[in-house]
Amino acid sequence: MEDTNEMKMEFDSYSSNESFARVAVAAFCTRLNPTLEELSDLKTAISEAITNCIIHAYDNQIRKIQIICRIKGQEVEVNIIDHGKGMEDVAKAMEPLYTTRPDLDRSGMGFAFMEAFMDEVQVESTPGEGTCVCMRKKLGCFTHPYA
Ligand code: ATP
Ligand code: MG
Repeated sequence: MEDTNEMKMEFDSYSSNESFARVAVAAFCTRLNPTLEELSDLKTAISEAITNCIIHAYDNQIRKIQIICRIKGQEVEVNIIDHGKGMEDVAKAMEPLYTTRPDLDRSGMGFAFMEAFMDEVQVESTPGEGTCVCMRKKLGCFTHPYA
């Protein structure tokens, strides 16, 4: 089996596309033999990042969201990219319970979930230009008893 593998996808920021996108990434990762729990963690993290693009970056206007996904060995790297409003202070935005949209009943826990469910989360953002959330996680690293 080859050691690295990459896929890119771009879709409109309809909230109905969020479930499609997380399933597409999960399907791409099945060759790593992830556990159900790992897959569920991955999908939750992706879902949080995509929801942020839809509601924060684009204020529910329909624009493009891009996902670049790379498998290197047993690790998957998922980059979720928008060209929306961006963030002035990424460190503050990533603090648990920090939200700029309490009016929408947001709880400010999205980044905290991404950090809890993935091994690594890095965020690059430029106000007025957009945001890239890069997350990494090792999958399927358990030793199978019959391997
Ligand atoms: P929750 O995810 O719990 O519903 P939330 O989305 O406000 O609430 P986080 O996902 O942790 O919480 O995001 C924190 C804040 O970071 C958001 O309120 C928003 O201001 C900002 N933010 C997050 N993602 C983006 C993005 N892609 N573009 C612009 N701003 C963002
Ligand atoms: Mg969020």
